Amino acid sequence: MNTSESVGAGPGYQRGELTVHTEPAELAKVTRALRASGRRVHLVPTMGALHRGHLELIRRARQDVNAVVVVSVFVNPLQFGEGEDFGRYPRTFDADVQACRDEGVELVLAPTAETMYGPDPQITVHAGEAGSVLEGAHRPGHFDGMLTVVLKLFNIVRPDLALFGEKDYQQLVLIRRMARELNLDVAVQGIPTIRESDGLALSSRNAYLDEEQRRSALGLSAALVAGAHAGPGGAEAVLREASNVLAAEPEVQVDYLELRGTELGPAPDGGEARLLVAARVGPSRLIDNALVVLGGDESGS
Ligand code: AMP
Repeated sequence: MNTSESVGAGPGYQRGELTVHTEPAELAKVTRALRASGRRVHLVPTMGALHRGHLELIRRARQDVNAVVVVSVFVNPLQFGEGEDFGRYPRTFDADVQACRDEGVELVLAPTAETMYGPDPQITVHAGEAGSVLEGAHRPGHFDGMLTVVLKLFNIVRPDLALFGEKDYQQLVLIRRMARELNLDVAVQGIPTIRESDGLALSSRNAYLDEEQRRSALGLSAALVAGAHAGPGGAEAVLREASNVLAAEPEVQVDYLELRGTELGPAPDGGEARLLVAARVGPSRLIDNALVVLGGDESGS
């Protein structure tokens, strides 16, 4: 562990170097001192197994030259249900730290379940109704666990800005809502989904797919493209076109395909909506989503 001193921040931080902290309280001292010294603090929460999607979040955070970027790497047990992939979730910590170093990240928070939660945690955040639909309907308790760890990360790091991917759209909506409803003093920025050149959304869980399953998984992004294309024809056309694409992929077991408003309420009659899909492909459960603009086809074209 690097404990060199640097003006204004004290031990546990050295400007231009990367320091890994496993103790949230230690990292908290460092970010508090950095803020007091006039630096802004930007946070990118992750579960590790970093890919280009994560790196895009880090790059956006780094665009603020006065900011110190904190990346958290924590596979949060609280957001995994019984029978989910907590045990086999890819863990590539050394490569993650190197990727962070290459991107100019100065602080990595890599707590253990013990340093993060202590011996007998009792208090959690409840995600409410918006957390019980879509992903929440298939992963009971997932968003309670996610919001709990994100709130803890916010309280530890005290970031000015926290960045999240639109890839996990419901997560982003819920975090924004938590920040608003619980009066959190943090700006939340959403970053568009990074995709492979063939459309597949980057995900740590793509690592579970073999070649054939990966080809089938392209059905998700292809369905979203077909749905978005049908936007001018209205909601029914969007869902019909997207379902047709998914139906042509027998290896894709759809959990849901839903069109909703941008805040995840009912889809509007016209204007911006969100098309969201979740499906199991072989050993992976994958999610994806896209913006759809509804209506505007009165000409009959
Ligand atoms: P995870 O490690 O999967 O919890 O993701 C950490 C952060 O990276 C979350 O804010 C995700 O939404 C974001 N993320 C994951 N995949 C992508 C992607 N393909 N494009 C953009 N952001 C992503």
